[in-house]
Amino acid sequence: MDYTESVDQAAEYANSALAKMKEMGIPSNPTNFMVWFSYFSDNIPDLKRAIDILIGNDQEFTTERNDEIYSRFFTYEQESTDISEAAHRAEAELTRILEHLGLAGDGTAEYGKALEMFSGEITDNPTPDHLRSALTSALNATRAMEQQNQDLEEKFNASSEEINRLREDLETMRHEAMTDGLTGIANRKQFDSELRREAMEAMEGGTSMCLLILDIDFFKKFNDNYGHQVGDQVLKLLAVTLTSSIKGQDTAARFGGEEFCVILPGTSLDGAAKVAEIIRNSIGKKEIKNRTTGETMGQITISTGAAEFKFGEPLSQLISRADEALYAAKSNGRNCVVTESMVATSQLAFDS
Ligand code: GH3
Ligand code: MG
Ligand code: MG
Repeated sequence: MDYTESVDQAAEYANSALAKMKEMGIPSNPTNFMVWFSYFSDNIPDLKRAIDILIGNDQEFTTERNDEIYSRFFTYEQESTDISEAAHRAEAELTRILEHLGLAGDGTAEYGKALEMFSGEITDNPTPDHLRSALTSALNATRAMEQQNQDLEEKFNASSEEINRLREDLETMRHEAMTDGLTGIANRKQFDSELRREAMEAMEGGTSMCLLILDIDFFKKFNDNYGHQVGDQVLKLLAVTLTSSIKGQDTAARFGGEEFCVILPGTSLDGAAKVAEIIRNSIGKKEIKNRTTGETMGQITISTGAAEFKFGEPLSQLISRADEALYAAKSNGRNCVVTESMVATSQLAFDS
């Protein structure tokens, strides 16, 4: 979640949130606070609407209700539950290993004692009978030790398999949390974190970084004509086209719905416009065909807005400028690329 409020605005929302929670008898813990801060800042319109409906229906605000709203709107809840479950499993596994190590330590000490006794007995009383019985005890102790080592090895093998499974589970969870389920490319969450990382690198290295926002033209009509499932296939096709049109350090992500974006580190605005043209041409050449029915649906086109990061600016501003350029591309007839500098110098004839 990105917070874009000024210091004063944020303080105002925070105060309202605290006052409201007190009034309703809800503990002002961080979870509840997030819900009410969002309510007053209206940064999640659906959350405000949901709460307003509840208030309108005279619903009581309990801690449980607050928790419900929190889990519904702050979607990483489930992910963090999964991760904390995995962490608990890892902790339990480590405790088991430590217990086994403790037992092994005890076993080794006993073995040591048995050997000590053996050496004492053969030096104190070196008769053949004594020697034989001392040897038998030492042999038994050695066998017991051998058995214990074998058990321990089995337990360690089982533990290391479990730890490997945990590592894989965590990796899968991390991947799923960052990936768009339909297209398999980065989701909004990964986009946000990559954009933050690349912005820092751009500032540190004094290099330019650009952002493209791409949106499919008349996609609603496409869905209406050919169905949502075919529409989904088109989204996948666009994702593949994006990934094959960019280089290693670039990130293509699904921004939401039928909007995508591309982060282009080390790229000027002119360079970004060129990449956008390559993508536009590439997608425009693809014939959309229903493989099962053989029906052809022509091509889809995309409009793109491009903006360049200004060192130190909030990232929401960069996104807004790319969005404005995209809007200009739509107004300019669609199927084209518009950069923020073209918007600024009004090189475009807007029809809106
Ligand atoms: P414009 O050229 O102005 O962008 O027109 P548009 O129809 O593409 O834009 P609008 O915002 O009116 O509609 C976006 C459509 O995108 C609505 C919805 O049918 C479609 N869409 C959004 N997400 C998905 C999705 O996950 N799958 C499919 N198949 N369609 C989606
Ligand atoms: Mg759109
Ligand atoms: Mg669209």
